[in-house]
Amino acid sequence: MSIVYTLKKLVDPVRVRMEETERKRLVEVGESEKSEDAKYRCRVCGLESRSNEYCPACLADTMETVRQS
Ligand SMILES: [Zn+2]
Repeated sequence: MSIVYTLKKLVDPVRVRMEETERKRLVEVGESEKSEDAKYRCRVCGLESRSNEYCPACLADTMETVRQS
């Protein structure tokens, strides 16, 4: 834990808590799909990403938007 992180936690605990929540959510993404943000999935290999630019596995422009039901 860096000293900057510690200071931030003292100064702005709400923001730090939000950042921790966001970090956990990013780790869990793909397993629990509760995100309301746009997500993308490779139509070739099924890999999910938050970027629609290209699939990091296929290295091709194969990402399409995942529709949350
Ligand atoms: Zn792919």
